[in-house]
Amino acid sequence: MGKRKQRLLRALGRSAEGVLRGLEEAADRPKQLDYFIEVMRAAYVDDCLAERLELNEPRPKVVGIYCVMAPEELVYAAGAIPLRLCGGSHEASCAGDELAPRDACPVVKSALGSTALGAPSLYELCDVVVVPTTCDAKRKMGEELAQHTEVWVLDVPHVKESEGARRQWLEELHGFKRDLERLTGNRIKRRALKEAIAMLGRAQHQARRLYQLRQAPVPVVRGNEAALALHAFAFDRADRWTEAMTRLNDELEDRVRHQQSPQGAQIPRLMLAGAPSIFPNWKLPNLIEEMGGALVTDESCVGDRYLYDPVGAVENTMEDMMVALGSRYLMPCTCPSFAPNDDRLFRLRQAVEDFQLDGVLYLVLKGCVIYDFELQRVEKLMRELGLPVLRIETDYNPEDVEQLRTRVEAFIEMIQENIQQEGGA
Ligand code: SF4
Ligand code: SF4
Repeated sequence: MGKRKQRLLRALGRSAEGVLRGLEEAADRPKQLDYFIEVMRAAYVDDCLAERLELNEPRPKVVGIYCVMAPEELVYAAGAIPLRLCGGSHEASCAGDELAPRDACPVVKSALGSTALGAPSLYELCDVVVVPTTCDAKRKMGEELAQHTEVWVLDVPHVKESEGARRQWLEELHGFKRDLERLTGNRIKRRALKEAIAMLGRAQHQARRLYQLRQAPVPVVRGNEAALALHAFAFDRADRWTEAMTRLNDELEDRVRHQQSPQGAQIPRLMLAGAPSIFPNWKLPNLIEEMGGALVTDESCVGDRYLYDPVGAVENTMEDMMVALGSRYLMPCTCPSFAPNDDRLFRLRQAVEDFQLDGVLYLVLKGCVIYDFELQRVEKLMRELGLPVLRIETDYNPEDVEQLRTRVEAFIEMIQENIQQEGGA
């Protein structure tokens, strides 16, 4: 193993372990969270995901996926294993500095750094990686990745509402299906696809259950804990993850019944909007909780939005299922790479109501133009709804944590005062 790779693995392991330890040290964490901590530890600290996933001989093909537009149902139906590769590591993003322009966002730099060095080794496990053409940075990243690994580009239309775009997208998914069949040597049969849709449907059901449990008037799980559990789907087999999530939800349901909360009732209820906080970049989720806020929801493509929408196949013919997959992975997606993206505002309005939010923190990752572009519209909506918004621009470098802490603390204090004033009025 090269020295650079070794150094990166060690540094990555230390940061990831720091985050996981922090979660483990909370004595009042849900007991069922430990499963998800172990998944993330296998991926980032112990670097032993292949063993954990039991990728024995004959080893199934592993398909690395960026973003949330590639239907994992097709991957499972072909007998392969999907892994979600979007990166949140500061150390990997430093390694990616020399492979991307200075102002590229850290999500892309981290993915490039991890791929080039093969660290963590889950990046090396992938026989192919799928890069949807979402934002410009991801599109160009696909070209760069092709120097290190086989890349399939998934051409995602940027205007969802047009009939032509939907036809083109369906055609694209048929191409993805053919590519998977070629890669694995397995023809995707109707029955296998139906089973894969049902399997992911069960995962989506549990993800929605968690979403609903977090709407309870007294928060029953910390935001960084819920985010970790959802994120672990990226590195686990869907059926195992669903079993673990069912156990976690059962435990949380019990807490709701007994009004047990790690944080208490009179706590500002906050949403983390904007760019995704990808593990181990837990800067903002941790700060929000440490500074006395309850992070009750987010809109992240590795968090609450990851598994939210079910696939609506009716007749279960191959064509019906393909159309349903096409619809599921395009229409409800609120990634800001779509324009117009009014669906996002609709979802945010809904979240304010469902979670009884008191404020929104809006993450802009340095170099990400599209999330920053949509900030004005989000601020306008939140003004109408009477909610304060705090824009936070940062990257994966931990050096600004103390400076961010001051801002997050002041924001939460201001909301706390508002709540007290309203309570006293
Ligand atoms: S926000 Fe959009 S472009 Fe960024 S990682 Fe998520 S799905 Fe991909
Ligand atoms: S949407 Fe923004 S944060 Fe996500 S990959 Fe694109 S530029 Fe980076």
